[in-house]
Amino acid sequence: LYRAKGAGRGRTEVYDASMAMGSPSDLHRELVAAIAEDQLVVHYQPIVDLADARVVGYEALVRWEHPHRGLLLPASFLSLIQEAGMSVALGQLVARRVVEFVASIHDRTRWVSVNVSADQLGDGEFATTLLSEISRHRLTAGRIVVELTESSLVASGTRIRHELTQLSAAGVPILLDDFGTGVSPLSYLRDLPVAGVKLDMSFTSGIPEDPTAGKVARALGALARELAMVTIAEGIEHEEQAEYLHRNGWRYGQGWLYGSAQPGDITR
Ligand code: C2E
Ligand code: MG
Ligand code: MG
Ligand code: MG
Repeated sequence: LYRAKGAGRGRTEVYDASMAMGSPSDLHRELVAAIAEDQLVVHYQPIVDLADARVVGYEALVRWEHPHRGLLLPASFLSLIQEAGMSVALGQLVARRVVEFVASIHDRTRWVSVNVSADQLGDGEFATTLLSEISRHRLTAGRIVVELTESSLVASGTRIRHELTQLSAAGVPILLDDFGTGVSPLSYLRDLPVAGVKLDMSFTSGIPEDPTAGKVARALGALARELAMVTIAEGIEHEEQAEYLHRNGWRYGQGWLYGSAQPGDITR
């Protein structure tokens, strides 16, 4: 636990979770069961047009309906999935669910964003699964959007770039998630097929108290627009934040002001 705490915020929870589940093989078995028994579920948070608060799409967010510990958020189990070598399986599961959900939405202008991490990319499995599900359901490719964090791109090699290019060429837009927090975001905007950016909520939450957060948000928005990219601001909890971001060029937004992530059958 001492080591876990020293490793930084968030780690304590992860270590607690793995300790609660016993040995690594128990953990692996629990995760296999979670996937087999449909305990991993996808919830959907609305994304709105900041001009009129109309819902334009959703972000898919995975949750674990743990039989004993309740509904777990990704921060408490994503690294366990990674350690168990099950990231690719998770990506395929989420891709299938999301395409099914999109196919069931009556409003065909709405799209859904899917989060992928670097360790879900590289061997082509994610792109192959996603694209074949999209064509099986006869969806327009643009109705599924892929979100990747800048930090997961730091270690990205040519295989990841190839897979992103494959998705983008097939019409699946790629968004840079947590925009503004990465080490070298600007080179990604230049080198990768990025269609849009999602402003990290740390900037949103600084509005209006922290003038610097507001100015950075404005400058990042201007940069994205200069590159003709889609702009989505995360973590909007107050009307004031929505107004400021809209006034400063952020087109779309999401956050508790508009709604948290809910199961698909409620959302639709
Ligand atoms: P993210 O993609 O940046 O997702 C946004 C997170 O902010 C979500 O947390 C969401 O529930 C939360 N959020 C939304 N609105 C607000 C708000 O107004 N205020 C605050 N304080 N928080 C808000 P969540 O669901 O816990 O997800 C955490 C991260 O886990 C995500 O960050 C994403 O990077 C990752 N993740 C989620 N689902 C998946 C998945 O299916 N695959 C992969 N690889 N990663 C996922
Ligand atoms: Mg995201
Ligand atoms: Mg984000
Ligand atoms: Mg974030």
